[in-house]
Amino acid sequence: MDSRFRKALEEREAKGRLRQLRPVAPAGPGRLMRDGRELLDFSSNDYLGLAHHPLLVERSCEWARELGTGSRASRLVTGTLDAHLAVERKLAAFKGSEAALLFASGWQANATIFPALCALAPKIAIFADRLVHASIHHGIAAAGQRQVRFRHNDYDHLEELLEAKGRDADIRLVVTESVFSMDGDRADLERLSAIARKHDAFLVVDEAHATGVLGPKGAGLSAEIEHKPDLVMGTFSKALGSFGAFVCGSAPLVDYLVNAASGLIYSTALPPPVLGAIDAALDIVPGMDKQRTDLARLSEKFRSGLHALGLDCGASDTQIVPIMVGGEEETLKIAEILEKSGILGIAIRPPTVPNGSSRIRFALSSVHSEKHVEQVLDVLGKAL
Ligand SMILES: *Cc1c(COP(=O)(O)O)cnc(C)c1O
Repeated sequence: MDSRFRKALEEREAKGRLRQLRPVAPAGPGRLMRDGRELLDFSSNDYLGLAHHPLLVERSCEWARELGTGSRASRLVTGTLDAHLAVERKLAAFKGSEAALLFASGWQANATIFPALCALAPKIAIFADRLVHASIHHGIAAAGQRQVRFRHNDYDHLEELLEAKGRDADIRLVVTESVFSMDGDRADLERLSAIARKHDAFLVVDEAHATGVLGPKGAGLSAEIEHKPDLVMGTFSKALGSFGAFVCGSAPLVDYLVNAASGLIYSTALPPPVLGAIDAALDIVPGMDKQRTDLARLSEKFRSGLHALGLDCGASDTQIVPIMVGGEEETLKIAEILEKSGILGIAIRPPTVPNGSSRIRFALSSVHSEKHVEQVLDVLGKAL
């Protein structure tokens, strides 16, 4: 097999698509060390700087000492601790939902939600925004379903497709992200929710990049609309600074997932140190309005600066600010110049984004300062 592995790798390399793991070391808020050099980190998803917050570290250690480093089994065997249920209650209150359920990761949640939902009836029609995350595509494929993709944030197109392909299905699912991970733009959840109700569809929203950052007290964009999406998924691995994921929704939905979601049933429960960090993040995130305002202002300043340089940052209006480059080689070149100048701005290429839309994806954090943003703009100006 090794010769096959080598051949597959060589093919990737020939296309300029070989991916490699390059280590970094944390070096204080918003900074990383790579190859012995300190870099300004504009590529991580630690939007509120919580990955090193003393309260999260402390509670994580505390819960490890009290409850152990492992959870010993899956949730349905002996893996459910009082701590899991308490964190789920705290989360449901934060998100304003009836019930909540923890998952091992966002990828795993998405990979398992769709097969569970699709087991409910013989005829399912799934309508997904063209730009949803790879884990959602995986979940739908694992369910053995084809998805109907609507053009990005184009809800007239969605309605056309619901009319044309949704009518005789037993269940219609509409799937979107609330903040798109590679574009930093937002879905209009108010409108999507109205469309879902009109067409009797079940609305699934991935809030991975909005949780902690947007919406009332950082509870996500789904928390600010009147008719909430039917299933809200989100992660603790980005703004909440640790690891793991969740689903929020009705009590019957959560009880059903406990019975039908393979990724929950056959996987070990989240361990106490991770739960401790999540618990601490849920305590402090609602009170971080100042950091959220700072982050929004910083992102706006960054976008204005990019526009002034004649750069295209698409429809971004969040802390995720891409510069659209197009070609893969040029994008890699810009990433290289940035890194040489002490800035980590990672090149994102196909298949993560559609062909011809390679970009540098800048992710801002509330720990960045205006000076940091000016530094990046300065380097980009010179590089151009
Ligand atoms: C990061 C991400 C996930 C996966 O979450 P992990 O906890 O990192 O596995 C799922 N959906 C979206 C939109 C993401 O950006």
